[in-house]
Amino acid sequence: MSEPTRRFRIHNLELGLAESELLLRSRAAEAAGVPDEALGDLKIVSKSIDARKHRGVRRLRFVVHVETGISTAVGSEEFKRALRSGRVREARPPQPLRLEGCGGYRGRAVVVGTGPAGLYAAWTLALNGAQVDVIDRGAALKDRGRDLVRFRRTRVPDPESNLLYGEGGAGTYSDGKLYTRVDDPLEISCLQELVDCGAPEEILFDSRAHIGTDKLHRILPEMRRRMEAEGVRFHWGVRLEKLALGPGGRRVRGAITSAGELPCDALFLAPGHSARDTIRALHDQGVAVEAKPFQLGVRVEHPQELITAGRYGRGPEAEMLGPAYYNLVSKPGSDGPACHSFCMCPGGKIVASVNIPGALCTNGMSNSRHSSPWANAALVTTFGPAEFGDGPFDGVAFQEELERRFFEAGGADYTAPGQRADDFLAGRETKNPRHSSFSFGTCPGRIDRLLPQSATAAIARGLRRFDRVIPGFAGPEGLLVGLESRSSGPIRLPRDRDSGIAAGFENLYPMGEGAGFAGGIMSAAIDGARAAQRLLQLRDS
Ligand SMILES: Cc1cc2nc3c(=O)[nH]c(=O)nc-3n(C[C@H](O)[C@H](O)[C@H](O)COP(=O)(O)OP(=O)(O)OC[C@H]3O[C@@H](n4cnc5c(N)ncnc54)[C@H](O)[C@@H]3O)c2cc1C
Repeated sequence: MSEPTRRFRIHNLELGLAESELLLRSRAAEAAGVPDEALGDLKIVSKSIDARKHRGVRRLRFVVHVETGISTAVGSEEFKRALRSGRVREARPPQPLRLEGCGGYRGRAVVVGTGPAGLYAAWTLALNGAQVDVIDRGAALKDRGRDLVRFRRTRVPDPESNLLYGEGGAGTYSDGKLYTRVDDPLEISCLQELVDCGAPEEILFDSRAHIGTDKLHRILPEMRRRMEAEGVRFHWGVRLEKLALGPGGRRVRGAITSAGELPCDALFLAPGHSARDTIRALHDQGVAVEAKPFQLGVRVEHPQELITAGRYGRGPEAEMLGPAYYNLVSKPGSDGPACHSFCMCPGGKIVASVNIPGALCTNGMSNSRHSSPWANAALVTTFGPAEFGDGPFDGVAFQEELERRFFEAGGADYTAPGQRADDFLAGRETKNPRHSSFSFGTCPGRIDRLLPQSATAAIARGLRRFDRVIPGFAGPEGLLVGLESRSSGPIRLPRDRDSGIAAGFENLYPMGEGAGFAGGIMSAAIDGARAAQRLLQLRDS
């Protein structure tokens, strides 16, 4: 066999649930219009489950994309046809975090936040020679866990160490879903770092890759250990309060923190979407902030069995697949705006995603085995400046007011208002909301009235539609728990498209979800790594 010269992706190969992956080779060759021998080693780059019904009949199967080298037949007519059809595409080489052929960076960087954006920015900077200090207002993992247990017991949140603040950021107590809609050559390098720190290899290709909170808690300390070995210094319980600015106010000289000043040559800002106080303080110093649309709605919870039966049926094949997930969308119609499910956690539980006293917000998490009997997801619709105003903090004020309203409706102790899906649709209270996985419990609440009217209309429309896809979705087994207000953030910190530098500054890099450039663990990680690389490339040009 001649040596492969170029690498290609071959898309949408079908594989029966019980079929061997060895069959993929001949299917890939056929799809590419080349003989088997023309293919190099095959690597699976994506594997997903297709559970759609065809003419009313469900045929469960895997859909697989593979990557391989193809040499001899590149000129053949069949191969050209496969390329034209999009079935076969040239593979883009992954981009490593350590930049080749770049002079490196000997400067001093301060990174704010240890969520995925901050961690990957810090790691990329350190791998390329920078001196890096990372600060986080929250606690290191062990202490953070203790603070969360205390919150559950006392119902008094610690405003500095909670589900949103502390080592690993907002995703530390999550499902650890790692798929993203961004198609970026840094993605595989970011995932590979997780594998090197102990994540399962499947995350490199599983289209529904997730790690789970239990495993994340083993991976994060290993990540920290490796970064410290590269010279990164972590400072826990240290909050950025202001920027130390040079003459003219365009150059950041240092970070003024709750523990004193840390001088720097560049400041990487990844405080997540809940650090409203920080963003306000920076805005007062001239950092531009603008309003952007964000998502708002509720969590919906069902018995996992109902979801799995609705998606995969009840046969033996369904059992091979384990707990099912869903990703549902309803388009806008005359009776309501668009609604979609988001952050679905199979076999998971609902958590209180709270960092300030007196405000209620929910989210979802699960462990690696998806082992709880409950499935939950956010059902959200989009709100924009047209609904809440275009002042930079109008969206934040709108969020705050709703979070307070739900907190009070739940009895002001983090119990969440709950309403059955059928009662929500009928506009009546649920007398005794059934058991929910939410650890602070639920109480009867008119979620249909607590939400803004257009969100109620969107969710009602979504529930009716999703019930057709998963029977029982909108029935008495579906429990709505609210409020879900931080699936995304309502502000953006504008930055230069090429350099990634904040408008009006010379060395301030806003990144991740809080800056409005990411929505999830992987997109935040990639944004952080990319921000660091932009600085390195700028220094080199
Ligand atoms: C419960 C839950 C479950 C989730 N599940 C998933 C999932 O399964 N998959 C997925 O893709 N996404 C999930 N998300 C969303 C995901 O976690 C976020 O999109 C992602 O963490 C954003 O990363 P980030 O680095 O931008 O910010 P964050 O992760 O929010 O990190 C920000 C960090 O900055 C620190 N900070 C804030 N202000 C300051 C300051 N002034 N000084 C110093 N430090 C500061 C905070 O303490 C925090 O640690 C989930 C979120 C939650 C809350």
